[in-house]
Amino acid sequence: MIKTDHLKMLCDIGEINQLFSSTKDIASIPQTIVNMVAEHMHTAVCSIYFFDEQTQELYIKANKGLQQETITQVRLKKGEGLVGKALAELRPICLKEASKSPDFKFFPNLMEELYDSFLAVPICHGLQRIGVLVIQREKKYPFSEQDTAALKVIASQLATLVSQVMLFSSLGEQSEPTDKTILKKHKFLKGKIASSGFTIGKALVQRNEPFHIHIKKYLQNSAVFSINDFEKALSVTQKQLEKLQQRIEETLADVASLIFTAHLLMLKDLTFTNKIRSLINEGLNAPQAIISVGKEYMDLFASSENRLIQEKKQDIEDLLRRILANLFRETAHVKREELKDAVIIARELYPSDILKMSSEKVNGIILISGGVTSHVSILARSLHIPTIIIDKEDLLHLPDGITILIDGELGNVYIDPSDNTVEQFEKQKILHENILKNKDLLSSPNKTLDGKKIRLLSNINLLSDVASANESFTDGIGLYRTEFPFLIRNNFPSEEEQFFIYKKLVDGMKDKPITFRTLDIGGDKLLSYYTIREQNPFLGFRSIRFSLQHKDVFTQQIRAILRAGHNADIRIMFPMISSLDEFIDARNVLDDCLSQLKTEEIPHNAKPKIGIMIEIPSIIELLEDIADYVDFFSIGTNDLIQFLLAVDRTNEKVASFYNPLRPAVLRALNKIAAIAKKHKVEVSLCGDMAHEGKYIPFLIGIGITALSVDPIFIPKIKQTIAAIKTKEAEILAKKMIKKNSLTAITELLVSFYKERT
Ligand code: PEP
Ligand code: MG
Repeated sequence: MIKTDHLKMLCDIGEINQLFSSTKDIASIPQTIVNMVAEHMHTAVCSIYFFDEQTQELYIKANKGLQQETITQVRLKKGEGLVGKALAELRPICLKEASKSPDFKFFPNLMEELYDSFLAVPICHGLQRIGVLVIQREKKYPFSEQDTAALKVIASQLATLVSQVMLFSSLGEQSEPTDKTILKKHKFLKGKIASSGFTIGKALVQRNEPFHIHIKKYLQNSAVFSINDFEKALSVTQKQLEKLQQRIEETLADVASLIFTAHLLMLKDLTFTNKIRSLINEGLNAPQAIISVGKEYMDLFASSENRLIQEKKQDIEDLLRRILANLFRETAHVKREELKDAVIIARELYPSDILKMSSEKVNGIILISGGVTSHVSILARSLHIPTIIIDKEDLLHLPDGITILIDGELGNVYIDPSDNTVEQFEKQKILHENILKNKDLLSSPNKTLDGKKIRLLSNINLLSDVASANESFTDGIGLYRTEFPFLIRNNFPSEEEQFFIYKKLVDGMKDKPITFRTLDIGGDKLLSYYTIREQNPFLGFRSIRFSLQHKDVFTQQIRAILRAGHNADIRIMFPMISSLDEFIDARNVLDDCLSQLKTEEIPHNAKPKIGIMIEIPSIIELLEDIADYVDFFSIGTNDLIQFLLAVDRTNEKVASFYNPLRPAVLRALNKIAAIAKKHKVEVSLCGDMAHEGKYIPFLIGIGITALSVDPIFIPKIKQTIAAIKTKEAEILAKKMIKKNSLTAITELLVSFYKERT
């Protein structure tokens, strides 16, 4: 029996904890731990395994005593091998002859079998499994109960330290080896389609690294720059920004305001640029001078009481990155971050990011989080940027520059595709474009096979969507999300600004009906200039609740809509109505606006149709009561499903629960359609459910005769509708409503489609 000095051991672990807080070399801590444990426990072998949450695998982070060349091959699932078992069952495993155990997992050339006396103890941090500590020695020296108890204490002592080491190592130092593993692991991935379309481009991973990490590469670079180099970089940056701002103003007039203006203002601020100039003239290298002055401004802005000024810190960061990239442009020492034609891979993005990316002409986007009905996805569709959501964190470790192919029709992503795949893809792309351009198909009336007319309306998010809507021969606009022009601004747009945007929309749509939805902010659509911190923004102070509390903002919007709608077929729709009282309050504001405009003798539409969105379950119970007050209902399934099923629409982790085919959803939709019919209220459906071909027979079957979708989906939906017989759809819908489980409903739908093929 080997005698171990456990007390001394525990003291040393305490020392390691201290070491952690003062060390710069975090990467060496796991090795220090195993060396120390092996020495104190008198073991030939000691390993510390880390548990990778993403891959759900254990791997050896540091080891003493095994064949170092082969330890990288060790990868164990939770429950696999003795180590995996210790982690899965959260208990120590102590064996005299490990290799005889049925759970022993043999790795060739590791030479583990020489050390058959085995003791593994899981390392947990709170409820989180973070790894396993393993000691081994020759079988003639078995471990005692005291050894087990001691290793347990050590493991628990180490837990916090290890979890921090894991956190830090995930911040980048491991990215080289993982790149290769990822490439091997993912050649092909399937994701959720947030915005369809085909594209190919070079990966550009938004690692969202903190600024101090981002600039490290510039500070470590030995290239020397003169004041002239700085002036050149400055002027290139200015030209770039002006071009971007101009491009965005031409194509996205409604949301263009101020995207790059703050950057340009900074560049023109002589106090800022002169400070940099004088530092360079004093002998500082240009990158240092830029960073030093930039940081001074960032700190200044960050310390402001005013939130708007605080946020300017982001703009400075962005500006500094651009100037530095331009400064280093010709040296090629530092990789350029070119957005043009790139496929962006990011954990999440904000609407303003998407707009910037669109103006810089990115080809596609892969998001790790977010839902397909989230507003970032909706915006990507308006901007025609193929976007896929794939919940795989390790995509963020892909190397920049690798080719990515997105087939946004099927949700497929190919990493580093073969020539053959690219060729197939080009053919598909041409085929797809031909459908979109098929004028005969598009201009034919929207009818079912047996001649029932279905109105195909468009969802519009940006003015730039109007062109696509017209090209698709839409019957009108079923949903104009007015909030986008509010999102990308520094303040609420005035009545005049809104009037200008809405008038463009009205003119663009000629005589077709246009449904304006009043401001629907909150949830995942946050205004940078009006934030309130909320635990549950989707259930918070949002949408009509906000408008009714801010009647000044609400009034300006309604007046702008009524004025723009003069002599046009406009409808006004209130979002997120949850009660009759709320509707009446909103209606009163509208009536006030009508009488104001009349008194002021300002041309306006005096008789807009008025409706509500059905998105909150409570309103379904009051639908019969509210039906007498409105001209139309519009079913917003994106939110309705979220609230009926209590599933966050932007959370990819719960996406499988968000299923429109769940019985409660189908029955609710049926109820709405029946009440609308009984009260002769027009009803349309404008959530994403309307653009999924598989749901159309059901929707037609329950009597929905108007669908509103992003214009890009119109050709496909038109084809789907043209193949449906109303009677068959009604029978199917009746059967689906009777079923009380998702499985039964899915089976029914599958056999419906099978019979048709
Ligand atoms: C909906 O909720 O279905 C809807 C169309 O509105 P939004 O997606 O803008 O919330
Ligand atoms: Mg909604």
